[in-house]
Amino acid sequence: MKKEEKKKVIVSACLLGENCKYDGTNNYNERLAQFLEDKIVFKVCPEQLGGLPTPRVPSEIRNGSVFNKDGDDVSYYFTKGALETLKIAQENEISIAILKSNSPSCGNGQIYDGTFSGTLISGDGITAHLLKINGIEVYTENDIDKLEKMF
Ligand code: SF4
Repeated sequence: MKKEEKKKVIVSACLLGENCKYDGTNNYNERLAQFLEDKIVFKVCPEQLGGLPTPRVPSEIRNGSVFNKDGDDVSYYFTKGALETLKIAQENEISIAILKSNSPSCGNGQIYDGTFSGTLISGDGITAHLLKINGIEVYTENDIDKLEKMF
């Protein structure tokens, strides 16, 4: 019988404890880490891959562009990070990503509205969007119940 291959997954690095968040901390999620124990994990931080430093000024999406809280247009870095993440997924034939909810890079289905007031609206982060339109299934750390039934 053919041995079942381990699932390959792209995962937001901050969810696995890497201090790559804008404020130099992380979003470690123990349940997610346990779920991933028998998977092959490719940790990515699109904002770092795009060339942004950590810590960095927080950013949000407004009218399709990304601005940091100082008002600088940082879309270039976010797009670069998204393209780098897609490249990793394609080169390694990965079809699933679990990304941090609500982030302007990683958010899936919900993001902050660009006013830095903590208000959420419908939408995807730049990386989540690019992965999705390239056929990669995107989930967040809030989908573990669903993911456990699937894999
Ligand atoms: Fe986490 Fe994604 Fe933000 Fe990097 S870009 S800190 S991986 S949410």
